[in-house]
Amino acid sequence: MEGKQIIRITETIRFVSITLIVYWLYDFLINRGIGITETYYWIILGVLALMIGVLLIIILNNQTNIYEAHTRNVRRERRIYVSIILIFPALAMFLFGADYCTKFRPKWLNFSQSEYYKDSQDIDEIIESKNKSDQDTFFIEDTVSILEKYKKSTTLLQPRKSGHEISWKESKFGGYPNMESFTAYPKCNVCKSSLNFVFQIYKRDFPEFYFPSNTNIFQLFRCPSNKCRSSYTNSRSDHKMFHYYSEVECVQNKIFKKTGINLKDIEKEVPDCYLKPLKVFDYPYYDDYKEEDLAKLDDNFKFKLGNLQIEKYITKPDTKIGGYPNFIQESYYPKCKCGRIKEFLFQLSSDDRENRNIFDYSNPVNWSDHGIMIGDGGNIYYYICTNCGEKSIESYWDCS
Ligand SMILES: [Zn+2]
Ligand SMILES: [Zn+2]
Repeated sequence: MEGKQIIRITETIRFVSITLIVYWLYDFLINRGIGITETYYWIILGVLALMIGVLLIIILNNQTNIYEAHTRNVRRERRIYVSIILIFPALAMFLFGADYCTKFRPKWLNFSQSEYYKDSQDIDEIIESKNKSDQDTFFIEDTVSILEKYKKSTTLLQPRKSGHEISWKESKFGGYPNMESFTAYPKCNVCKSSLNFVFQIYKRDFPEFYFPSNTNIFQLFRCPSNKCRSSYTNSRSDHKMFHYYSEVECVQNKIFKKTGINLKDIEKEVPDCYLKPLKVFDYPYYDDYKEEDLAKLDDNFKFKLGNLQIEKYITKPDTKIGGYPNFIQESYYPKCKCGRIKEFLFQLSSDDRENRNIFDYSNPVNWSDHGIMIGDGGNIYYYICTNCGEKSIESYWDCS
């Protein structure tokens, strides 16, 4: 390869890398976190890997040429030149790669999670693999057929703390929300303090969620004040929640200042958490099985299935959309004005972390990455009558 060609290629690669770095800086300063999707990360990382590959091949095959082509004008040692042509693509690779890892946490960085909540589709296989008598097999088939009737799909949101701020253009917990459709930062209608932002999900990411027509984002907020009067209604105390649906374009955000939060007794803001959605099957809380089914299940579960298998059929306790509410007290389904029983929409759980086998309940922060404590380790459940739409949405919460 000739010196001129080498220069052209290395200069082009350096130019592309610097452009990418400038874009990274621009997006980081504007969005405080790269507002691009996983696919674009793959494309950018792919291009960078390709360019670095080309550079390495050039360097290995044309050491003499590189030296000659560049020492003629620039009197630098080969080693310095080689590091100069490599430094920009390497830096770009590092910036985008680090962002990708903090945002999407690739599977290969996270083995423990994949073992948890193994999807229940392999029910039959596991049962067959156990040495059971005919009688046992009968019980188990019976159990599985009951469970199959109730099985529903659910999406666990799995909010996990992020290393940096996440763009308002993403579905996420905490940080700064998409404020496009607001005219001021939302306030509690009782105590007037600015709300804490809990989470937002976009329709493009969670089409299985309920979105009224002409809306593409759902946002949940919470009154931060422990002293708010709304907390003391019905002798039950939890913070008042607020939700909003709107249509947004994700082009330009509005930046509002929070007001009225010079209160002493307030809940901490939710830290930036990325979502790691996981679709699994969900099964009802025991109250929600029909009596005759529950009686059979009770016997079969107690005596025939191992603990591991029981784990599969639990009502998932995490923050999730769809599936079944994981009640802590009695089961509760409100009735709509139209006479229908409202459907379960989603639940926000205070007990929501990567590894449930680790018990350290000394501090609310250890219960979940989002840090919200509902009553005493409780859940908030949202319901909707899809027949009557958005206005029928209501929530309920319980705790131990
Ligand atoms: Zn309030
Ligand atoms: Zn209704």
